[in-house]
Amino acid sequence: MEQGAERKLTRMSFLRASVYVCLLATAWVDVTLAQSKTISCANCAEWNQPQAPFRIAGNTYYVGTHALSSLLITSNAGHILVDGDLPQSASQIAGNIRALGFRVRDVKLIVNSHVHFDHAGGIAELQRLTGARVVASAWSAAVLKNGGMGRGDPQYGTSPGIAAVQNVSTLRDGESFHVGTTVITAHLTPGHTPGGTSWTWKSCDGAKCYDMVYADSLSPISSPEFRFTKSREYPQVLADFEKSFRFLEAVPCDILITPHPELAGLWDHLAARERGAEANPMVDSGACRQLAADAREHLRERVASENKR
Ligand SMILES: [Zn+2]
Repeated sequence: MEQGAERKLTRMSFLRASVYVCLLATAWVDVTLAQSKTISCANCAEWNQPQAPFRIAGNTYYVGTHALSSLLITSNAGHILVDGDLPQSASQIAGNIRALGFRVRDVKLIVNSHVHFDHAGGIAELQRLTGARVVASAWSAAVLKNGGMGRGDPQYGTSPGIAAVQNVSTLRDGESFHVGTTVITAHLTPGHTPGGTSWTWKSCDGAKCYDMVYADSLSPISSPEFRFTKSREYPQVLADFEKSFRFLEAVPCDILITPHPELAGLWDHLAARERGAEANPMVDSGACRQLAADAREHLRERVASENKR
């Protein structure tokens, strides 16, 4: 899809577009990931396009590729990295951290949205480069430790798995992690996968502090045989989605970032900032509620289509 055309899309259309993109990703090639540092998929080259790193707000920086988010949250005594993208993104992420003037070895904690290959595929290599601890929800931690994909994942069997990750700790819903002066809090937001996790923290520009939200994917994408209305492997999937929508509707949210950055309009906001917009275009206190509304509608349509079959 062309850039110009993409900008005209509404957020809802972005959700649909991302479904389309994610389904195309099922044309993957390489599943022997334990040794491999590259995954081949229909969209991998496009997703891995380089992106110059930049500050989103305060101590929060974008260090991902152009199509897959990865965030560096810095502190006076070590940093936090959010998401590792594709295996082949790891060197770009490390290069972006260095380009900002930070040391890769100072990353002390790596966290993740969900354990699909396009958000967690690079974590094994990034952990090797940084020596950082990885924390994840119980379901995600099991997948990270074993590698591959988890049973119960709606996309089980249709996407590449991930390389196994060492030194993974399990977190609790609402648990906070301190790295230097930075505190990041985990919120279980399952549905897209059973282990999906969103993250909140504060970043300050001078005296102005923002509630930052990294909201995990909430799209009901699945293998052809999976039914959100009737799944033996993931029977609570609809209740899980509802929990996640409620979280997004209630969370204090000044700046929303999503694993696929265009879903929260990141490139439009950046372009507006570069044009010199007066109000901070990154700030949109309604963004989390809008994302919840779009995702809720998307799931409703999926359930309706399953009920018609
Ligand atoms: Zn995913």
